[in-house]
Amino acid sequence: MGKVLIIGAGGVGTVVAHKVAQNPDVFTEVMIASRTKSKCDAVVKAIGNPAIQTAQVDADSVDELVSLFNSFRPDIVINVALPYQDLTIMEACLKTGVNYLDTANYEPKDEAHFEYSWQWAYKQRFEEAGLTAILGCGFDPGVSGVYTAYAAKHHFDEMHQLDIVDCNAGNHHKAFATNFNPEINIREITQKGLYYQDGEWIETEPLSVHQPITYPNIGPRESYLMHHEELESLVKNYPTIKLARFWMTFGQQYLTYLDVIQNIGMSRIDELEYEAPLADGSGKQVKVKIVPLQFLKAVLPNPQDLGENYEGETSIGCRIKGVKDGKERTYYVYNNCSHQAAYKETGMQGVSYTTGVPAMIGAMMFLKGIWKKPGVWNVEEFDPDPFMEQLNKQGLPWHEVFDGDLEL
Ligand code: NDP
Repeated sequence: MGKVLIIGAGGVGTVVAHKVAQNPDVFTEVMIASRTKSKCDAVVKAIGNPAIQTAQVDADSVDELVSLFNSFRPDIVINVALPYQDLTIMEACLKTGVNYLDTANYEPKDEAHFEYSWQWAYKQRFEEAGLTAILGCGFDPGVSGVYTAYAAKHHFDEMHQLDIVDCNAGNHHKAFATNFNPEINIREITQKGLYYQDGEWIETEPLSVHQPITYPNIGPRESYLMHHEELESLVKNYPTIKLARFWMTFGQQYLTYLDVIQNIGMSRIDELEYEAPLADGSGKQVKVKIVPLQFLKAVLPNPQDLGENYEGETSIGCRIKGVKDGKERTYYVYNNCSHQAAYKETGMQGVSYTTGVPAMIGAMMFLKGIWKKPGVWNVEEFDPDPFMEQLNKQGLPWHEVFDGDLEL
């Protein structure tokens, strides 16, 4: 059906590549490109399909991307590099006539701030070029938006309250590690919280609002209110929502480490000057610039290596209140994903798996012509039904609870 180019060969990229390879009727030609080509080659070796091509590319450079796109001529790019590369990849897509999908919205490197405005600004250019851009197609954002669209389509006349609840009850047996790129993860968690109520955005101090929430098959876990990007598009696309929040669980040990990291300045994202010895062994010192958070990433466990000893599961879902046929209704739709099952299938843990599978399904939706319309779109703006059907087939089955206690 079509040619796909995956950019990024990290935890999520590895899962996307495995899932793309499992669907050869849809993805007829595949290339994985990233900053470090050897990582792409290792993914191809693990999949065992030498027909998958690999390439080196610096996705910060529009010129490099353009020449790669012109030589491979993909129908769609799945961007699972870092949020910093979203705009350069979108620019290159426009220059070469390639469609686009990502799992995280753009963030500037020098400012820990994320919002959709930068990417929504591309809407008219994608429309005029006749190209589709699908934004935020991982789990959250991604499946969280598809779940909400499915709820709106089938179970509500009006939705009033949306709580996205994200629990990782896994144990990787490390003192401290992040489940996806440490730099992006720590930037996200240390930001102020933000939620939407009665048409206004309300800011909270980082991780200051929390309560226990009970997750299926897991039990109660302390859950923290955070700012999460999909709230921005969901309240815009479903204006009857009066209250929208995002909750994520953290263990006490994780929070203690995070506190220390912040208090000793290791989460800083500004450049510092550091005296380092010259590599020639002369003992001479040279001044180099380092960003503490990037340095920390280099010493923390690589999220890609957590899978082998990871036990337990993730549970992510949407808890929604609203009205159907004149009656109040609650609805909870969720998926639980086992870290070990994800590892056995793809060599990666559950957080990479729950992100990579939906990214593959989004690209499948595009190539099948189901999610294809010129412009820049968030996932809830497409028909959720065929996507929900694929979630059940591709390893992320979902479950529903009607009129239960949402606890929120
Ligand atoms: P990793 O750090 O494991 O992987 C990122 C990959 O991108 C690496 O292969 C890296 O190359 C490559 N890369 C980084 N910069 C460049 C560049 N300039 N040019 C080319 N390649 C580059 O991250 P994850 O796999 O954990 O996460 C990938 C994305 O998924 C992130 O954007 C993250 O925010 C998103 N995500 C989304 C979630 C969701 O549910 N929506 C949940 C989790 C993650 P190298 O190996 O050389 O460093």
